[in-house]
Amino acid sequence: MILLEVKNLSFRYHKTGPEILKNISFNLAPNDFLAIIGPSGAGKSTLLRCINRLLEPTSGDILFDGINITNLHQRGMRDVRCRMGMIFQEFNLIERMSVIDNVLAGRLGYTSSIRSIFKMFPKSDIQKALKILDRVGLSNFVEKRPTALSGGQRQRVGIARALMQDPKLLLVDEPTSSLDPKISREVMGIIKTMSEEEGVPVLCSIHDVILALEFSNKVIGLQDGYKRLDSQTNSIENGM
Ligand code: ADP
Ligand code: ADP
Repeated sequence: MILLEVKNLSFRYHKTGPEILKNISFNLAPNDFLAIIGPSGAGKSTLLRCINRLLEPTSGDILFDGINITNLHQRGMRDVRCRMGMIFQEFNLIERMSVIDNVLAGRLGYTSSIRSIFKMFPKSDIQKALKILDRVGLSNFVEKRPTALSGGQRQRVGIARALMQDPKLLLVDEPTSSLDPKISREVMGIIKTMSEEEGVPVLCSIHDVILALEFSNKVIGLQDGYKRLDSQTNSIENGM
């Protein structure tokens, strides 16, 4: 079974600008941890932003959970995006809200501007958030502000927030770029454990090849917008 299929995807930011993604194809099964590797500027973030449809592909198709989401607009896309949990490089936490509020915000799609959203949620959601925070090792930090946390702890909040959505897919963009090597490995370990326990596949861009190989079961390599490497087909093209 395939959860996500990307077919001949191409993208440019501007009509007359350079093609940033060139004819990219790959797919993801429900138990995959797929790493996207490649140097800075290769197109990794752009690819993830096409999949969660913050960007609209110039050509090609993206099929997610049986639906072609390539040209879905606004409302349809909002529903789809709710089923994709995002984990970011810079964590994207709301600093003036507590840890548990940040996690609950996953239910709202992160955009709430309300100071404390805690009271808006049914008890079941709060219990669920507490349970997830416990699983990522943050049960002692529930009421803290993100500013009181270390980088690794902040990324655990990001992971918890993504899980709060009951995602069908975890989209992870350079989760370890701002973390030191030891903490990076810990964070990747938590993402992998959560993925396995929840049965949710991961699509993770990461420039650290060693971590990519350690935690993933599939790797694709991008360079200059081309797919140069694909562990599924054992293909390596010139230049990687
Ligand atoms: P990576 O995540 O692999 O570092 P990116 O997807 O961020 O690569 O960038 C791929 C290419 O797209 C780079 O050449 C970058 O300069 C360009 N790019 C990224 N964002 C934009 C943008 N908003 N407008 C124009 N070009 C962009
Ligand atoms: P990353 O490689 O992690 O995507 P970057 O530093 O390349 O980080 O990009 C940071 C931000 O700047 C992104 O939002 C990206 O879209 C934007 N950006 C990158 N390159 C360009 C570009 N050539 N023109 C406009 N915006 C860009």
